[in-house]
Amino acid sequence: MIINSVLDVILAVALAIITFLGLYTMIRCESQKRNSFMAMLASIFLFVLGYLIMITAHTADGGFAGKKIDYMGAAFLVPISFWFVSDYCELKLNLKAKASLFIVPALIVVLMWTTEVHGLIYKSFDFITTTSGIRRLEIEKGDLYYLTHIYAALVIVASLSVLLHRLIKWDKRHRATLFLIALGVITPAAANSLHVLKISALEGINYTPVSMTVVAVVFFINIVRNEMFDVIPRAKEVALQSLKEALVLVGCGNKFLYANETARSIFPGLGALSEGEHMQLVESWPKELFFCENEKNKEAFGVEFNISHEHYDAAVSSLITKKDKLMGYIIIIRNVTESVVFTKKLKEMAHMDALTGVYNRRSFMELAAVQFESCRRSDKPCSLLMIDLDYFKKCNDTYGHLAGDEVLRTTAAQIKGCTRGNDIFARYGGEEFVMLIAEAEAEVVKMLAERIRKKIQETVITYEDFNINVTCSIGIAMRSGDESMTDTMARSDAALYQAKNNGRNQVFLQV
Ligand code: GH3
Ligand code: MG
Ligand code: MG
Repeated sequence: MIINSVLDVILAVALAIITFLGLYTMIRCESQKRNSFMAMLASIFLFVLGYLIMITAHTADGGFAGKKIDYMGAAFLVPISFWFVSDYCELKLNLKAKASLFIVPALIVVLMWTTEVHGLIYKSFDFITTTSGIRRLEIEKGDLYYLTHIYAALVIVASLSVLLHRLIKWDKRHRATLFLIALGVITPAAANSLHVLKISALEGINYTPVSMTVVAVVFFINIVRNEMFDVIPRAKEVALQSLKEALVLVGCGNKFLYANETARSIFPGLGALSEGEHMQLVESWPKELFFCENEKNKEAFGVEFNISHEHYDAAVSSLITKKDKLMGYIIIIRNVTESVVFTKKLKEMAHMDALTGVYNRRSFMELAAVQFESCRRSDKPCSLLMIDLDYFKKCNDTYGHLAGDEVLRTTAAQIKGCTRGNDIFARYGGEEFVMLIAEAEAEVVKMLAERIRKKIQETVITYEDFNINVTCSIGIAMRSGDESMTDTMARSDAALYQAKNNGRNQVFLQV
């Protein structure tokens, strides 16, 4: 009798806790996940309520009505707890998949509520009082009695697998919550197994509804202590993880604290690092990002570094407490390869001729002036060559402007192929090229010019269906005495004029 009353009180307390939890969740939690949790609470409520009705009933029929309610709660609790676990674990289940989980439980409920007709779940029932004084229904099992238990076992295994996977994969901070959810899944399952196997300290007591009190408390702890439904910590992590920029938190003494996904992809070594380990263990971590704590480091600063042809830019800010104590550093790293390459290209474009890819006139004047001056100071020979294509206008008129462009490109490449390391070669304008040759005597320069002239003469340029042949005239002037580069250039221009006048396709050297 006393046992019965104690059991009634325990179940009533369980119901009160579940109701409180339901209200608390409804008022306090904003997460979408609360829906599945509240559905879970509702089925637990039915489960416990049904059991309470059953053990407090005065007739066998009244007790069996309680059993039916109990059964409904138990049957629906199975898919709802999986739904809850999958929601918390962010397992993407569509509505169809979620709904299909309810087919077997719905069938079980229908069979249970009509079992008097077919006897598939229970064949018969009667009230008895056990030797330990507990009033309970004596029930004869039907052919489908175990259906509900088998289905529950399968779904619980699935829930635990998902939880286990997340325990391994997710950040350590979720461990406590995941572990408690797993406990909440296992506890009633274990209690039910004891009931089915008829293992009970007091004959006739089903621990399953009582264990629901434990589950309710477990989830209460989860909600209060681990912010199970607090969207903000999870949202913060998702936001940090999906950042395009790499984010690394380093504590004092260069101790690793945190790295998001992008950071781990740049520095794979970060993945193997645990909180508190030294950043030295990370291969390729830039030396500029090792800090020695001093006042200066409280200022934000930037660092640039390269890793396997990629350019990175790191912005470092200090983590300072309200009492102005340095705690570590926030490092945000951006891949700036594209903009670095673009800037380099822009610089190149300012120096290079767009059509031929050799230096343009401006660069030539700058570079040649330095070389010319150096030769002048050390009184070394220095020659300037003006190379002009013969009758190029006719080439354009005959084959078209695009063919003319191709001729210019090929010719420039041919001439460049004849230069040495120190020579400076550029497109001077139109179909005219210029070259500075330092530290070479007149005969050597003349030989080189002849080689260029011959090469151009012999080259057949193919453009569409045309085979194009051009020649060039070259004027050479050697630096003389103290004259300026402009003067030497003017003389090389005059030499070119002479070469043209002499009949083109030839070299003229003005000594
Ligand atoms: P000469 O033997 O006296 O040098 O005769 P030329 O026809 O080569 O000289 P001219 O100065 O009369 O003509 C140069 C031509 O070069 C005219 C111009 O249309 C052509 N030209 C200049 N720049 C380019 C270019 O970028 N592409 C093409 N296709 N033609 C160009
Ligand atoms: Mg010409
Ligand atoms: Mg010309």
